Amino acid sequence: MCLLVAEDEPRLRKALIHLLENNKFMADGVATGVDALEYAKTNNYDGMILDIMLPEMDGICVLKTLRNKGITTPVMFLTARTEVEQRVEGLDAGADDYLAKPFSTSELLARVRAMLRRKDNYVPDLLTWNHLVLNRSTYELNYQEETRLLGGKEFQIMEMLMQQPNFIISSEQFLSHIWGWDSNVEVSVVWVHISNLRKKISAIHAPVEIRYIRNAGYLLESRNDL
Ligand code: CA
Repeated sequence: MCLLVAEDEPRLRKALIHLLENNKFMADGVATGVDALEYAKTNNYDGMILDIMLPEMDGICVLKTLRNKGITTPVMFLTARTEVEQRVEGLDAGADDYLAKPFSTSELLARVRAMLRRKDNYVPDLLTWNHLVLNRSTYELNYQEETRLLGGKEFQIMEMLMQQPNFIISSEQFLSHIWGWDSNVEVSVVWVHISNLRKKISAIHAPVEIRYIRNAGYLLESRNDL
């Protein structure tokens, strides 16, 4: 899956590309609307993330031009919270989704996956470890015959744990990744969600465990290893 990122703020553009590449996407970055159009015209992308306020040509104009050329690549806009009118205009121009800045990394990834799912040849997005299966489309956690539905935050925590089994993830890492840097959420909220996750893991008899390491964080490990 290859994405085009058009964002003129260098730090945000680099952060977006870094985040996408860390999550197994390929990504090209451009800084202007004209470059976005040139790259997008190659039609080599599975999806695009376009900032609305871009130099030379704004994101809405880029999208209108692409749609007029018959290029149907799904597009998600990035907007500042104040740009509400432009959002409406963007919808009319054929954007698939919006994400208001500032956003959390997990929200961005969830929206990107949703955007890509709308493409025709979509296959279920499953994350598997030790025969434990996390379905990223339905938020279901499955082991053999048993399945439980996870809440949004539970899903995001479980996804982080399953992406890095046997590695300690601190409460602060969960907070910054899932709730965003600016949030005022207390560390105890992570504990509550982990506690609920443990109950669901136990309910489906999965041979894995979320272990707490004092003063460090949580890790997902196989109970067969204990
Ligand atoms: Ca901008």
